[in-house]
This record gives sequence, C-alpha cells and structure tokens, in this order.
Amino acid sequence: MALVPFDDRDGLIWQDGALVPWREAKLHVLSHGLHYASAVFEGERCYGGNIFRLDAHTARLINSARLLGFTIPFSPAEIDAACREVVAANGLVEAYVRPIAWRGAEQLSVSAQQTRIHLAIATWPWPNLFGADRMKGVRLGLSAWKRPHPETAPTASKAAGLYMIGTLAKHAAEAAGFEDSLMLDWRGHVAEATGANIFFVFDGELHTPTPDCFLDGITRRTVMAIARRRQIKVVERTILPEEMGRAAEVFLAGTAAEVTPVRAIGELSFAPGPLTESLLREYEALVRLPPEEVARLAA
Ligand code: PMP
Repeated sequence: MALVPFDDRDGLIWQDGALVPWREAKLHVLSHGLHYASAVFEGERCYGGNIFRLDAHTARLINSARLLGFTIPFSPAEIDAACREVVAANGLVEAYVRPIAWRGAEQLSVSAQQTRIHLAIATWPWPNLFGADRMKGVRLGLSAWKRPHPETAPTASKAAGLYMIGTLAKHAAEAAGFEDSLMLDWRGHVAEATGANIFFVFDGELHTPTPDCFLDGITRRTVMAIARRRQIKVVERTILPEEMGRAAEVFLAGTAAEVTPVRAIGELSFAPGPLTESLLREYEALVRLPPEEVARLAA
C-alpha cells in the first residue's frame, strides 16, 4: 500500500481554536514540544459518527498535560466540541481522531515556563482493517526495552516522550518478524504492548497487569466492565513472564487494536479462543451504541 504522507493530504485540521487547511497546520521547528517532548496526545475512534468515550479521552488528555506541568487553554467541553467539529468538517464517520497539545517556541531551554500551550486535532478515515482476519491474531516479540519506574517518568501520562521506548521496542520486534512487542516493566513484570494493554485467560478468569507504570487504557477498562457484567472474574495483578505459557488465551485491548487475539509471544504460541472472540464481538457492538448507552455500559 502506498504511503500517503501525513503532511500532504486534503482536509481540515483544528489548530488552536480554528479549522485550517490540512497542509497549513504547521508549527515552528524550534517548538519546545519537538526538542524536549513537552507534548501529550490522545488516540480516539469515531464509530458511526460518534467518538467512543470522548469524555474519558478528553479527561485523560487534560490530565496528561497536568502531569507534564502544563494546562491546556481549552475547557473539556471546548475540546469535545472541537473533536466533533473536525470529524464533521472532514465529512468522516469511521475515523481516528488525534488531539495533541504541546509547548510552543517562545523559549527553547529545559525551563519553558513562558511557552504558549497549543492544541491541534486531526482526524483521518479509519475503516475496520481486520474483518474476519482479526481472529487470526498477532505475534508479539519480547522487548528488551522496559516500561520505566513511575519515579523515572510520568508513566500515567499519554506523553509523547514515552513513545520513544515504544518505537524502539516495536522496530526491534518488526525487525525480528513480529507484528508488535510485549514490554516488561522495570521489575521484569509483564506490562503492555507498544500501543495496547494485554489480557490473559487463566482458568476461565481474565487476568491483566496492574497499570502502575503504564497507561490504564480506556479500552482496557471497557473490556473489564464487559467481562464483569458477564460474571467473568477479572483479576488485576502482577503477572510474571514465566506464567504466560499456561494462559489459555491472550489478547490486546486498545483504541486502535480494539480487542485483538495474540497468537504468539516470542516462542510461546496461543490459540485465539472463545472468550477473546466473545469479548471482541461485544466490544465491537458496544462502540456503536449511542453515547448515553456507552457511558452506562462501559464505565
Ligand atoms: N498503552 C499504550 C502505550 C497506548 O499507546 C495505548 C493506546 N492509547 C494503550 C495502552 C491503550 O489505551 P486506550 O485503550 O485508552 O487506547
């Protein structure tokens, strides 16, 4: 598939309060966000014209910025409205939505107290790419890169800087022939994939690592709510890599991945199974319910 560069497309991007033509949505090369990673972002999905759990994404965006010491100069309601506006302005219904906030170019030093905070929101078509193939599952390489201690980095923030580790891990996994990478944390406990949380089925129960040094994903929490409503026991705990081999099923959960079975982690293989499939189908149905219904069922 030919790559369409992200800076050379038709459409509109919402930038600092107004819609601008896609190719004109620019920032200066001396922006603090670029040099010092003072940037936070979100990844959202629009299904049938509704952005799934938009309020939760906006709340996380604002909190991510707070954890990096800056305040986004728009209210939650304004950010929600801007996300909806940019999707509508681009005539999209099935889409990915990417808000990003960053420190501007007023100061270029480690200290950047006087920088202006910018917010941009872009969106692009995102049809369901998997279709029936989804159940085949993905293969994960085991990463040499680790999720850092929460005193080493603001790990609860969806901060651009943390994705440096993700890109290194994912590139290494791809070079070794895997689709994604499973990262351990600094203690050697199972953490997450580079853009999704991980779940294991042990003895009919759903187990997932406690998110104490990585993102507590919105999809993760949604899947846990679905499972609990179905009376499936959900356990958040420390998971050691040695335990993974006895899992009956493994899957990823994330906005982009939705629910995706894992069929291998390094040398270990897993058969995509019935619990994963039923959660996948239920998640697929849930994301298309009216937002009020989603709010009731997903939290
Ligand atoms: N971990 C990482 C590193 C991610 O990038 C994502 C995607 N935002 C997730 C987990 C899953 O989070 P969510 O379900 O909120 O998309």
